[in-house]
Amino acid sequence: MFKRSIITVLALSSVLVPFVPLGAQQKLDPTINDKIRQEEEQHSQIMRTLHFLTDVYGPRVTGSPSLKAAGEWSIKTMTSWGFTNGHLEPWNFGHPGWVTDHFEVHIVSPVKSSLVVEPLAWTAGTKGTVTAKAFNLIVPQGPLVPMSPTPAEGGRGGRGGPSTPQHFQPTQAQLTSYLESIKSDVKGAIVLVGKTVFVPVNLDPTPGRRNEEDLKRQYDPNAPEGAGRGGRGNQPTPPEGTLTARQVTQQIDEFLVANGAAGRVNDAGRPHGQIVAFDNATYDITKAVPTVVMRNEDYGRIARILADGTPVELEMNIVNTWYPEGATAYNTIAEIPGSDKKDEVVMLGGHLDSWHSATGATDNAIGCATMMEAARILKALGVQPRRTIRVALWSGEEEGLLGSLAYVKEHFGSAETPTPEFAKLDAYLNIDSGTGRARGAGIFGPPEAAAVVRQALAPFQDLGVVGASATRSRNVGGTDSTSFNNAGLPGIGFGQDPIEYNSHTHHTNLDHYERVIEADVKASAISIAATLYQLAMRDEMVPRFTKETMPPPVAAR
Ligand SMILES: [Zn+2]
Repeated sequence: MFKRSIITVLALSSVLVPFVPLGAQQKLDPTINDKIRQEEEQHSQIMRTLHFLTDVYGPRVTGSPSLKAAGEWSIKTMTSWGFTNGHLEPWNFGHPGWVTDHFEVHIVSPVKSSLVVEPLAWTAGTKGTVTAKAFNLIVPQGPLVPMSPTPAEGGRGGRGGPSTPQHFQPTQAQLTSYLESIKSDVKGAIVLVGKTVFVPVNLDPTPGRRNEEDLKRQYDPNAPEGAGRGGRGNQPTPPEGTLTARQVTQQIDEFLVANGAAGRVNDAGRPHGQIVAFDNATYDITKAVPTVVMRNEDYGRIARILADGTPVELEMNIVNTWYPEGATAYNTIAEIPGSDKKDEVVMLGGHLDSWHSATGATDNAIGCATMMEAARILKALGVQPRRTIRVALWSGEEEGLLGSLAYVKEHFGSAETPTPEFAKLDAYLNIDSGTGRARGAGIFGPPEAAAVVRQALAPFQDLGVVGASATRSRNVGGTDSTSFNNAGLPGIGFGQDPIEYNSHTHHTNLDHYERVIEADVKASAISIAATLYQLAMRDEMVPRFTKETMPPPVAAR
């Protein structure tokens, strides 16, 4: 009964009480921002946290023992900082854990050389070293993609430029007849799938810092939603009858299994030895042969020698361990308990899981370290938050935000089917775009919600923080804050300087500790700690959509 009346009051208060300027509120420490800066400058733990999460526990693939160990280490660490209620919260991943213990691919004829590869996660092992001829399977091209018109003045040129003609995928008939014609070529072979990707030298790299004017447009409180953001442009619609890239790769996988190929090699298609290796999307070793992604330079070399008519022999060895217990995955939780408003919760976090080809420093050990640090700063300063602060480090993000979606569903339900906790989550703050400092924040909610965040961030212009904007989008995508937005809850996502995220580290084999800029991540920890403080202390929760103003639900998947 008591509980229910509190919920009613909260629901009403978020609707009726107008925005109260922070200065008018009680119990706020006017010197808090200076103290936060000092604590981070003098006693930062952020690089230590990063070291453990990457060097010691990376990579942290969902379902793997190292991800679980990383979560346990984080709980132990946050507990040592004085946090409470540290625990791992299980959810059903449904796939076994997978760790690759050893892999190597060599060219043994007509030359001898090591080759740089990464296996796909959840790919099969080779049962010892396999020596096999290489064969280059070149998927037939579909119709030509129409040339896009010249970008508008001031627009950024796309990748590849107009000089590289693009093709749609083939039709089913084209693919079937081609695959029929190469059955004997793939038997027992290690198959390089696809024509070598031409990667032009980039003479115009994207700047590592966001331009201040662009950011001001993006976070302009008076701009209509979506303004200031570069659009992706319209993708041309494939002609009827052509397959999707996913259908093509799936059919090739089935074909290679059915015709006894020894292995599959994909072209990484990126410069400077960068490799992005995702997963065997079936999680099933009977549905795809052992598959690696090879750096573009090695792939190109082999393909060019084969094109001379010279046979190439490769050696491949992949050894994996599978962990059936990984079907249960865990989110990592710890709290700083609140006081007079302890039933209300401010959450913050990022995903702890990573891909397997590196130690996942910028994606997203540093995001976890930053959020742990923001909460640690307040604890170290002896702040007694009014609301409970809850750190959440997610798993299954890379496989589709699975851990945060499971958590939100279980704890909060959605605006349409809320649990009692739905009314008590103040906001969830998320960071997940690499090492670049936070430059602004987007919040799911009405414009007044952005005003609260903007005011909290305002004292950090010297750290490059520009502002905050509101979004009405309930689409799931990108990162875990959208799992909250999808449910109709105030998810807050920080926008960051890209630094080398898109060009080098995101999902690549280069994502290591060395790529993190200490000054930037400390700056993020400071501005986020200050935001966290304001949210945990203000009289009212962050304004949110009402039943009447809530945008319609969007399917999570
Ligand atoms: Zn990420």
